[in-house]
Amino acid sequence: MTHAVKFHPGLMLLEQYVEGTLSADVALAVSAHIDLCPHCQQLNNDITNDQAAVLTEQQVSGRNDEQEWNQMLDFITNQPVLAASVITDTKAAPVASVTVNGKTFQIPRALARLAENQNKWLHLGGIATAKLPTAEKQHVSLLYIDKGTEVPNHTHLGLEMTLVLAGRIVDENGEYGVGDLLINSPEDTHTPRTLADEDCLCLSVLSAPLKFKKGLTRLLNPLQQFFY
Ligand SMILES: [Zn+2]
Repeated sequence: MTHAVKFHPGLMLLEQYVEGTLSADVALAVSAHIDLCPHCQQLNNDITNDQAAVLTEQQVSGRNDEQEWNQMLDFITNQPVLAASVITDTKAAPVASVTVNGKTFQIPRALARLAENQNKWLHLGGIATAKLPTAEKQHVSLLYIDKGTEVPNHTHLGLEMTLVLAGRIVDENGEYGVGDLLINSPEDTHTPRTLADEDCLCLSVLSAPLKFKKGLTRLLNPLQQFFY
């Protein structure tokens, strides 16, 4: 895995991730990205330390002196140590794998438990999806795209997060490899595709369906359901 990760969640998302204010499914995509990205592992540690320092400062200024608060503070200031050991574990532990189209792909540990309960793969042309059942509003799935295959041009009715887990994907805005996180909103229209010689596995988190721009109208609804 020599690919240098270029597309990251952004500082605000990482801060919300550390604060625990993201919805569980968005947090899942961020967490899986962090598993694959040394840069964001470091940022994650730094933000955790910063937030602990802010809380310490608030405590020193005497805004809250209840015992409960002290217990929470103790817990939070212990986080850096915990975070460091988690990273060590990530490197040591074997990751989970999924098999599709006769190929087995390794996936980040953050997805291992969900992938155990994945729905069966649904195929449409060179594309396959398998839902990962979660309790949240967002729709989470594994998305496999065979080599030389295009996802029809679409925009987004909500937030689309795509984390590349294996291979490479290209759209009008760039080329994305393992660990890269694409974040698209209703302002974005794109036509993701694989290269001629390499297939691709992604994690897809959608807050609303995709909206396909081309093709026969009667085909658009099934297509929308396939991806959502
Ligand atoms: Zn990153």
